[in-house]
Amino acid sequence: MVCTSVKEGTECSFMGSKGCQFNGGNCHPITEKCEGCQKVVKRPSGDYCLAFPDPTIKWRFGNCSMATHMKAKDEKKNGKVNPLKASKRRAH
Ligand code: SF4
Repeated sequence: MVCTSVKEGTECSFMGSKGCQFNGGNCHPITEKCEGCQKVVKRPSGDYCLAFPDPTIKWRFGNCSMATHMKAKDEKKNGKVNPLKASKRRAH
């Protein structure tokens, strides 16, 4: 259903006829570590993640698996390119 809470207008699996069913009744704002991620959506009540209702959980045991900004940093840091992925990129 479409969210009528903090991420109004966004399709969400936690939204139901009785409102938001997520723990606490709405999404939680992003953490500092989320800044720069493409999944961040700005709303009047704050910045939220499009993928997860509580971003702090995604960072609790290491890097968020869906973070778009971390992948870019990792590739630059390692300086290595996966040859299979590189050939697929060239094919496009
Ligand atoms: S995908 Fe991960 S890093 Fe990106 S906003 Fe969501 S919780 Fe934060």
